[in-house]
Amino acid sequence: MSKILFDGQIIDRDNLVDIEDRGYQFGDGVYEVIGVYEGRPFMMDEHLHRLKRSAGEIQLNLPFSLEEFRRQLNQLVKANHLDEGIIYLQVTRGAASRWHEFPGRGVRPKVTAYTRAEERMTQVEDQGGHAVLTEDIRWLRCDIKTLNLLPNVLAKQKAVENGAVEAILHRGDTVTEASASNVFIVKNGELFTHPANNYILNGITRQKVLEICRKINIPVHEQTYTVDELLAADEVFVTATKSDIIPILEVDGNQIGSGKPGATTGQILKQFRSLIHELVHT
Ligand code: PMP
Repeated sequence: MSKILFDGQIIDRDNLVDIEDRGYQFGDGVYEVIGVYEGRPFMMDEHLHRLKRSAGEIQLNLPFSLEEFRRQLNQLVKANHLDEGIIYLQVTRGAASRWHEFPGRGVRPKVTAYTRAEERMTQVEDQGGHAVLTEDIRWLRCDIKTLNLLPNVLAKQKAVENGAVEAILHRGDTVTEASASNVFIVKNGELFTHPANNYILNGITRQKVLEICRKINIPVHEQTYTVDELLAADEVFVTATKSDIIPILEVDGNQIGSGKPGATTGQILKQFRSLIHELVHT
């Protein structure tokens, strides 16, 4: 049986959710998904820092230090002999009688984590996929990685029903991000992506892509752009943990650029893969 992390202990996976866990009833919690490549978690510290920030924004005190989280998650990866896949980590405000307000001080946040084996998505990264557009109907704190994902679920379902890999979200004319990834466009060799504010999740992959672009001298603009600008872009790609960088070749039936993965996207993907290579071989 696979192992999970439960309140600081590595135990067998079992049906342990309390019916009154606030994550289960209110989506009152935060989470992270960390990519694992050949047994090595990628950018674990960045993910843990984002978890701490998300928790702080909903006034939830993490019950372990980041150092302790790191130790426990590494132990979990080993216990499950995980090679390729992800770690899912969540912290809820705990289990208590169901009242909307925060429970009393005696209620401890509940930390759980598990791993899932997943193949690398190199084929779709190399070949690209299609996307659909859908209105961004989420709340105004998309910077917090909370368990409330129903609008994202509905958007992704629309993508899948249309044979697309992602649903790109827009608030009115402005493109924000996608259901589970950040969106970038390339125009005349320059990169544009929505600024990291309350309208998007500041993706760890997004931040790495921006760092890569600065390193290889691709001009970057953390600036909003419209749906029309998206459709008129030379290249579009989305980024997320473990699916890394996926070129988008068509949006709502409109071909993007040449309809093939673009050169700038390819350059960034190559650099990203060399970071993974370094991770695995050092
Ligand atoms: N935006 C949203 C809404 C997400 O859910 C995710 C994570 N899947 C991302 C962006 C990408 O973030 P990261 O690169 O940290 O996985």
